[in-house]
Amino acid sequence: MQRRRLEEIERDRENARRIKELTAQLADLSDVVSRDYANAPIGDLQSWLRSQLVEDAQQATRSAFRARSAAMAVLWNLDGLHHESPNGKTCVCGRKVSDCRELRFLADCTSTLYGWEQQQLDRLKKGLECGLPREHPEMVKRNGYTTYRRVG
Ligand SMILES: [Zn+2]
Repeated sequence: MQRRRLEEIERDRENARRIKELTAQLADLSDVVSRDYANAPIGDLQSWLRSQLVEDAQQATRSAFRARSAAMAVLWNLDGLHHESPNGKTCVCGRKVSDCRELRFLADCTSTLYGWEQQQLDRLKKGLECGLPREHPEMVKRNGYTTYRRVG
């Protein structure tokens, strides 16, 4: 019983010593960071901070990519429901081109939309993440989803 108590006391002393050591190490590292990060010697902390900054930037880029893709996918689907028929006089929704508000709205962004679509197709061919909607013919080919996009 006495021996066990002595072991506990020794373990507590060792833990206290380790905590003091780590606290001092943390203070040194914090001091390096706050004093002059750019001139600090290359080390684990600097490498870690750089990787964290890069990771944060990559995460922000991925978020922006997905948000843009979601918006473009909505426009892409709207374009599927409202675009000029081959005769050039009517929208595929059945209204005259001049009477289709959606077609007029899309006219201002179709070149951006088609540029984005081509960019996504290129990414898809390279095996990169792409933001094409699942109804897109290329995605349907790959995933077997049924498209409702009208042709013509
Ligand atoms: Zn229309």
